[in-house]
Amino acid sequence: MVKKLHTCYVCHKTFFNGVYWFDSLYYNNFDKRIIRPFCGPICSNRYRDTTDVNDWPDREKPFPKGDEWKLIQDIDYIDYETD
Ligand SMILES: [Zn+2]
Repeated sequence: MVKKLHTCYVCHKTFFNGVYWFDSLYYNNFDKRIIRPFCGPICSNRYRDTTDVNDWPDREKPFPKGDEWKLIQDIDYIDYETD
């Protein structure tokens, strides 16, 4: 598989080796799976500081089932939807 090129959700830089990302799996206010990659801790922190993500309600378990909602441990080799 080809390694995926990510686009940082905050600064729009493109990069490989995604380590930081937002995952809508963990928030109740999303009805679809959205991944928002961040190029590093600075953009990840900036996202937390400039949005109200910390106030969003946690998704209650059980989490939704199906391929769209599988646990993601690595975003480099998967197709994901972002926004
Ligand atoms: Zn960035």
